[in-house]
Amino acid sequence: MYKIKTISLLKETMQNYFSDLGNGENKIAWCSSAGPSELLRAFNFKVYFPENHGALLGATRTAGDYIPVATKLGYSSDICSYLTADIGAYLSKTSPLLTHYGLKEIPKPDVIVYNTNQCREIQDWFSFYGNEFNCPVLGIQPPRYLTEITKSDIEDVSNQFKNMVPTCENVSGVTFDLDLFKETLKLSKEATLLWKEVLETAKNSPVPISFFDSTIHMGPIVILRGTQQAIKYYEVLLNELKDNIKNGRGILEPELCRIYWDGMPIWGKLKNLSNLFIKNKTAVVASTYCNSWAFNDFDENNPFESTALAYTNIFINRSESVKLDMIKSFVKDFRIDGVIFHEAKTCFNNSNSSFGMPLRLKKETGVETLVIEGDLCDLRFFSEGQTTTKIETFIEQII
Ligand code: SF4
Repeated sequence: MYKIKTISLLKETMQNYFSDLGNGENKIAWCSSAGPSELLRAFNFKVYFPENHGALLGATRTAGDYIPVATKLGYSSDICSYLTADIGAYLSKTSPLLTHYGLKEIPKPDVIVYNTNQCREIQDWFSFYGNEFNCPVLGIQPPRYLTEITKSDIEDVSNQFKNMVPTCENVSGVTFDLDLFKETLKLSKEATLLWKEVLETAKNSPVPISFFDSTIHMGPIVILRGTQQAIKYYEVLLNELKDNIKNGRGILEPELCRIYWDGMPIWGKLKNLSNLFIKNKTAVVASTYCNSWAFNDFDENNPFESTALAYTNIFINRSESVKLDMIKSFVKDFRIDGVIFHEAKTCFNNSNSSFGMPLRLKKETGVETLVIEGDLCDLRFFSEGQTTTKIETFIEQII
């Protein structure tokens, strides 16, 4: 099985990001993963992403140690396990970031910024830290679950972005520079288009990158959007993947079945699931999750409005009908044979199987669908045996 070589550059890129974050030279902003990191970087903030930490707690399978700590504080174990794992780790005064990247501690925030385009949980999560660190918490609250995005929606969200400026100036001590914001947005757009191209290489057969690889290689597009490092990283990765396509190299040669993954990754089981699909000669070629960081709408000539649009029209913030249409176009473009819906028990926001979408999708496209139960971080909600049987039976049915 082919292993992507750019993984060594990924490790270096992540290490540099965390070393830089912990060097104490800049003010720190904490930001949600689809939050306005470009605007924050225009004030020279170093930006830290608690959700990235949540994913790391899931992937290192340490989340299970910390979730009960947050539960003791009154957070239900049924809510977002990124939130409970992250707050639990904070209360336990530990983190894999200390051992993996040599940080002395997670840098304390000078300002915290979230966007409820993904969920309301993010507001509660980040407000907890606002109280802990006694720092300003700024929230963007776009209209949710949109079918159409109107001009007035964009105006509303764009004004919310603009309203962040005075607090960011105060906290950072940097006067807002429109040109710097435009430049950051331009860098972000370049990285995001490269990331999209990376994901689209999986339209080929043999498939040069799977969903499971992409969940790892998406690190820089989340934490380094708006920097040259993200661009450099995706240029190198894309070159490797293009070379593999040219030379007929793939993760599986040939795949017998092509799957679309909807919903969150099961971070603590990425390797097991990746091996399971490979063993069954199946490639998971596209996903809602990884595509969520392909922001097409950034336009440096229209910085506030285009940022508002890009962060409002993300998949998770759209209506059921728009989501269905988006999945249908993935099914067509990536020549999908089957769609797996991961129903994450602690994130209904990113689980799309509860209101009949799998059946509607099958009816409208003829593609087979399967719902599996699990979670992003809390492995108590995941049964490996049952899921393996379900997935293997599903694949057998298709090929
Ligand atoms: S979208 Fe889901 S996983 Fe992400 S922060 Fe919100 S509840 Fe948690």
